[in-house]
Amino acid sequence: MSHKSQLASLGGKPVRRTLLPYGRQWIGLDDIRAVVVTLLSDFVTTGPAVDRFEHELARYTGAQYAVAFSSGTAALHAACVAAGIGEGDEVITTPITFAATANCIRYAGGTPVFADIDERTYNIDPDSVKRLITNRTKALIPVHYTGQPADMQAIMQLAKENGLIVIEDAAHAFGASYMGRRIGSGSASMTMFSFHPVKHITTGEGGVITTDDPELYEKLKEFRVHGITRNPSRMERPQGEWYYEMQSLGFNYRLTDVQAALGASQLKKAERFLRLRRRYRQMYDEAFMHAKGVTIPYESPECESSWHLYVLRLNRTELRAGREEIYHALRAENIAVNVHYVPVYLHPYYRDLGYRQGLCPIAERVHEDMITLPLFPRMTRRDVNDVITAVHKVLAYYSA
Ligand SMILES: *Cc1c(COP(=O)(O)O)cnc(C)c1O
Repeated sequence: MSHKSQLASLGGKPVRRTLLPYGRQWIGLDDIRAVVVTLLSDFVTTGPAVDRFEHELARYTGAQYAVAFSSGTAALHAACVAAGIGEGDEVITTPITFAATANCIRYAGGTPVFADIDERTYNIDPDSVKRLITNRTKALIPVHYTGQPADMQAIMQLAKENGLIVIEDAAHAFGASYMGRRIGSGSASMTMFSFHPVKHITTGEGGVITTDDPELYEKLKEFRVHGITRNPSRMERPQGEWYYEMQSLGFNYRLTDVQAALGASQLKKAERFLRLRRRYRQMYDEAFMHAKGVTIPYESPECESSWHLYVLRLNRTELRAGREEIYHALRAENIAVNVHYVPVYLHPYYRDLGYRQGLCPIAERVHEDMITLPLFPRMTRRDVNDVITAVHKVLAYYSA
């Protein structure tokens, strides 16, 4: 083997000199200008920038209402409470997600129930959901994993038959479509998007719930400000103009105007960001379609993924190494690959609650073979080609 193709993990020269992250934000001078204008304005929080951002988010997603929160996690918490999830309620979700999806059920006092995933899309499997529905089931929280919408037709059908509320965790799916409709404008009760820096657009920290339901909209807004309303028609005992009423126990989950200004500026570029993600996904697909040892992501015909993540599945039988070795080999080449996710219930906190290995066999098996490649709009074609070169180099070494 030539020195050039010697793996960096075995002392060879890495494909890149600097580490390429798996995801990161793209902040431009236009964004900085928008933030500075807001910093110099009358309001750095609870001002007009939040309303404007919410209005534009509703327009972008096609929803009736949008309520911005200090994080996607706060938004999920609010959605669970607005949905009426409480003590004794079961909520069915997927284990292949970020911990926040299940945690928000716990915040509201409910019990997460984990359904297994579809082997091809890695999204929650409606057949598994169906088997887990009991008379204590209150809601379903599908996650549009990697940006590919879950099987919403089957999920909404189950919800309808069993009187369940559906909250979409669309943290990965900003700009994605299902059956020609934008995620967020669908039939689910509420949809959450996150504006964490690795997501499609960023506000530093931030998130939003979109909904078409005016009652849920009011509840979400109240939950964000301590459970306080200033709307006389919602008060028990309206008094003077100065009066407000705290009607439930809420939180301070506000997004600041500074963040909202950043978000509104980022939103103008969302379509361009999406096009770049889709272009890089195409380059990866073409490079790895026939590669020995890996399977490229599957995209369902009814979905247009927003490509938050590009996840390769390793084919054990064609490789002399497991995920750990491949992961370390790629890291040594300065490609910051990642793993999304360890099944949530295998974390110590959930194990302590009594969840056990073997609960979702497909999720556990598939998770062992997953590896996430860098994918974000600010990458250059050269960055993408570095990833391709590194993956081919590592696969060549480890293919059986
Ligand atoms: C990012 C993310 C969240 C949480 O969003 P934050 O804005 O980081 O709080 C929830 N669910 C999924 C699937 C995510 O990827």
